[in-house]
Amino acid sequence: MFVSDCLSVNEKGHLTIGGYDTVSLAQEFSTPLFVMDEEKIRKTCRMYQNSLNTYYQGRGMVLYASKAFSCKEMCRIIAEEGLGLDVVSGGELYTALQAGFPTERIHFHGNNKTEEELIFALEHDVGHFVVDNLTELETLDRLAAGQNKTANISLRIKPGIEAHTHEAVMTGQIDSKFGFALETGEAMEAVNFATRFRHVNLKGMHNHIGSQIFDIEPFQNAAKIMLEFMHQIRQEIGIVIEELNLGGGFGIKYVESDTPVPYGDYMKEISQVVYDTCEKLKFPVPYILMEPGRSIVGEAGITLYRVGGIKEIPNIRTYVSVDGGMTDNPRYALYQSPYSVVVANKASQPAAKKVTIAGKCCESGDLIQEHTMIQEVEVGDTLAVLSTGAYHYSMASHYNRICKPAVVMIRDSEPRVIIKRETYADLIRNDL
Ligand SMILES: *Cc1c(COP(=O)(O)O)cnc(C)c1O
Repeated sequence: MFVSDCLSVNEKGHLTIGGYDTVSLAQEFSTPLFVMDEEKIRKTCRMYQNSLNTYYQGRGMVLYASKAFSCKEMCRIIAEEGLGLDVVSGGELYTALQAGFPTERIHFHGNNKTEEELIFALEHDVGHFVVDNLTELETLDRLAAGQNKTANISLRIKPGIEAHTHEAVMTGQIDSKFGFALETGEAMEAVNFATRFRHVNLKGMHNHIGSQIFDIEPFQNAAKIMLEFMHQIRQEIGIVIEELNLGGGFGIKYVESDTPVPYGDYMKEISQVVYDTCEKLKFPVPYILMEPGRSIVGEAGITLYRVGGIKEIPNIRTYVSVDGGMTDNPRYALYQSPYSVVVANKASQPAAKKVTIAGKCCESGDLIQEHTMIQEVEVGDTLAVLSTGAYHYSMASHYNRICKPAVVMIRDSEPRVIIKRETYADLIRNDL
């Protein structure tokens, strides 16, 4: 009935998440509020890990792309589930370290890691660096030498794939700021270059073709292209690259018409391509890494708002204003992302009213959804926007000096705060 299986309706007709009444949550913890279902997150982690075990003899590791949602508790959950972690900044790394995340399972990404970030990561023995460009390669080698260390690296490759998704989240094509291009010979040059450095250990090749992708085919093509490149490296340079990182990008359900591939099937199909290609090329089967972010947390989270005002503009539209907006959800403004919206206290009623959900920021573009169908709505109702577990809290801002919401995690039908709501005092903490 809803886009995520952690949502339901109780006997009062209220929306529930992880078995807990969302209307009570809004009362207890105030709004806007992010709520996440821990069981759903853990189940998805296990599904990915199990699919690697089932279809690839466990010869791989799942890394959670923490940029989707990063906080100490999330890092602890991922650590407990035995997954690795992607970080793309010193801040995400710091969060992981503060949560006691095992550093050997951390992979450091980013197209412009600063020297300070690289030094910080080397000091903490981060397990793996995904190198984006030649400048970084040189810098990393020099900084690792300075600490008398050898950094495990892989190279980020643009396989030349245009996955079917929004342009802003497409990353595998040649015109992308990320990584080395294959077609131009840049990638091979980078491999050559990397082999000459003594303080980096070239272990793998990495690619990530984009986000919110529903087809398996672009992933299969990317895997094939990457293996062919690894084969070419062996022939031309004489080294065998042992690891292949296939990135993340698996789509999730925001609205009914979204049809994500079951994550277990993904690994089944990809394993087949990897095995077949390796056999054809007589290339040793590599260790596989994959990096889901959105699909681990996205459907596990919702945002709760309180309806403050309703403005009917005859023959044009009805604006329903909520107590949050682009500060906690910039995705509609950025990508016109579709969402399912539910009046949480009337969740069993039919969605018969067409409305536009507006935020409270001083921007006409501060909308969460336009022309969407929801239940008959009144001031004071609790509004739930679904599938907001990924790229919402992590993309939140302080525009208009709006405090960031709290995040509540539900486990065994019990809610607990994992990120406190910000206060006005937090907003001026660094003001002088
Ligand atoms: C963003 C990103 C991911 C995760 O993508 P999702 O769409 O959230 O699964 C994985 N790997 C890299 C390198 C990324 O930049």
